[in-house]
Amino acid sequence: MLEVKNVFKSYPTAQGPLGVLRGVDLRLDDGGSLALMGESGSGKSTLLHLVAGLDQADSGLIDIGGQRLDRMSEAQLANWRRTEIGLVFQQFNLIGSLNVGDNLAFQARLAGRHDPAWQEQLIERLGLGAVLQRYPEQLSGGQQQRVAIGRALASRPGLLLADEPTGNLDEATSDEVLQLLLELLHDSRTSLLMVTHSPRVAERLAHKVVLHQGRLAARSER
Ligand code: ADP
Ligand code: MG
Repeated sequence: MLEVKNVFKSYPTAQGPLGVLRGVDLRLDDGGSLALMGESGSGKSTLLHLVAGLDQADSGLIDIGGQRLDRMSEAQLANWRRTEIGLVFQQFNLIGSLNVGDNLAFQARLAGRHDPAWQEQLIERLGLGAVLQRYPEQLSGGQQQRVAIGRALASRPGLLLADEPTGNLDEATSDEVLQLLLELLHDSRTSLLMVTHSPRVAERLAHKVVLHQGRLAARSER
């Protein structure tokens, strides 16, 4: 389970500190899914980065599966991030010098969790069998995002963090990629926190919150 309590985060600027998150509270149960919405610049990526342990909150608490992020050392955090967190971004962020097969296995190998049977299953479910030898630049956007999803799930993380994963895809491709993602998450009992601009995409997740003026302003449940 993910729990965020009273989290504050500001960035230094020439005009003084810019308060981006001002008392954010959030809960996500195991296997749950939550869409994080809000205007551009409202702090969605900032919040995702904090939950991923890529940056530190100024104050407040982030607890993931009973682990307090602020109590972990850099080394513990790096190790924990590799095994427990999957990340998917709008820009796919595949490694250009590695083919699809090696991109898929990259993170799981780093985490010491390479599981050939699970990887085979991901390849089949994501429809990537025919393009394993290709390089990212030889793939469509939808294919690239499917590789990125496979890479993120290959180590079986407990929590997948996705920052506008369908933002660069057309509507039909976006629907298809999201459907695959939700099925794989369901089967692996992985929780999902997803930033999206699209009400259509948000509609598919179990819960939705809106970040506004540094706080989570609304919560609706389906
Ligand atoms: P969103 O993802 O909702 O568009 P961000 O979290 O990226 O918003 O950014 C929130 C605000 O914080 C924006 O005003 C942005 O310019 C600012 N910001 C983000 N990262 C930094 C940084 N590293 N240094 C200074 N300001 C930042
Ligand atoms: Mg953002």
